[in-house]
Amino acid sequence: MHEKCGVVGIALEDRDAARPLYYSLYALQHRGQESAGIVTHDGFQQHSHVEMGLVGDAFDPGDLQSLNGSNGIGHVRYPTAGSVNACCAQPFSVSFKSGSLGLSHNGNLVNADEIGDELAELGHAFTSDGDTEVIAHDLARNLLEEDLVRAVKRTMERIHGSYSLTIMHDETVLGVRDPQGNRPLCIGELDDGYVLTSESAAIDTLDGELIRDVRPGELVVLHDDGTGYDTYQLIEQENTAHCFFEHVYFARPDSTIDESLVYEVRRELGRKLWEESGVESDVVLPVPDSGRAFASGYAEAAQDDGSDIEFAEGLMKNRYVGRTFIMPTQDERERAVRLKLNPIKSTIEGKSVTIIDDSIVRGTTSNQLVQLLKDAGAEEVNVRIGAPPIIAPCYMGIDMASRDELIAGDQSVDEIRDEIEADTLSYLSIDAIAETLETSKADLCLGCVTGEYPYDIEGEATDRDVDRPHISGQPRPADD
Ligand code: SF4
Repeated sequence: MHEKCGVVGIALEDRDAARPLYYSLYALQHRGQESAGIVTHDGFQQHSHVEMGLVGDAFDPGDLQSLNGSNGIGHVRYPTAGSVNACCAQPFSVSFKSGSLGLSHNGNLVNADEIGDELAELGHAFTSDGDTEVIAHDLARNLLEEDLVRAVKRTMERIHGSYSLTIMHDETVLGVRDPQGNRPLCIGELDDGYVLTSESAAIDTLDGELIRDVRPGELVVLHDDGTGYDTYQLIEQENTAHCFFEHVYFARPDSTIDESLVYEVRRELGRKLWEESGVESDVVLPVPDSGRAFASGYAEAAQDDGSDIEFAEGLMKNRYVGRTFIMPTQDERERAVRLKLNPIKSTIEGKSVTIIDDSIVRGTTSNQLVQLLKDAGAEEVNVRIGAPPIIAPCYMGIDMASRDELIAGDQSVDEIRDEIEADTLSYLSIDAIAETLETSKADLCLGCVTGEYPYDIEGEATDRDVDRPHISGQPRPADD
């Protein structure tokens, strides 16, 4: 499972934004490793550097030197919409009659084709097949007729899907979060400026202070001189659709998202997992690194209940097995887990073990993990998962798997337990997720665990009263 992207936008009083943007992208690297880019504006012209690869490889000191200007935006990308090549790397930057635009997008539109077709008929030429370019062209067109705020509103009324955007129009940096707030976006204050970013960990990296989350449907415009910002609630929706997986898996544990520290949320989910399906065993082990906070909460709740269960690190991770590792045969691919994880025999041998992970997608890794622990001498292996079974794909920008690849797509929990060869298996309930996040299920996106989505997606069910905007042949939205 991969998050699609991380975005950032910065406006400073009197120093170049390139380095703070670069450090922010480092802080957001976990959200995308395919490409990295920065676009700045020096008051006269735009400067852009976008490269495939990790942040550390994409920029050299000369590149940062050439990115002049105290305002800019940045992006790290893992592709889900559009091709896996340099033309879809971001920020997307382009000059129109209405001025220069740079866009960084996290999320996925479900009606980009309809808008793209309409704009192509009106003469817009596209250089990529990504949805971000569609937003850029639509916004550029609206900017010919409207001021910035109205132009953004018009575009928001036409696009349907999930989006957290940082945008640069000439030297003005702005941030927009979709009306359901599916993907995160927050605003922070620096000593000499302001920052908009996917996760607060990036603000911490810059020694700044988190101010708050950008509200769903809100536009935040940073002052060009870095001294403040203005906000506009452009679209109001009765319910939000926050992606619960941000809290469970994608976001850094040290980030605060929608007012909750991710680490504490994961520990609480672990506590709930014990309450709902705790099993007595000698030792509880996290699957590193993602299961760690869940396992510590689970073990703590067990001990509070008088259990003798011990919390231990039983699996060591090889941090140097990267994404580029080449595994030539299927057999070797199946052994990949042994390259990544090695058991610490003394914590496992002769013991009943519970391993805690955040999710099961295809089930291959879980099966290999159970085998690994049994080979290391575990007498019993119980598996506990800090999220409900994933039964359906994500259309909102998470690279997950297709329906028939998902182990829970058409199998019961008992069948999955048999397939991964665990002694027992339990998942956390949807109710426990909503309770921990202190929100109602109606304000969460639960598409991948219920099969009902908060957006109007062709061929899929929705869990709310929502219609995608009708684009083709319709008059453009009226001003108000
Ligand atoms: S479908 Fe799942 S992963 Fe995708 S946005 Fe919704 S909750 Fe998040």
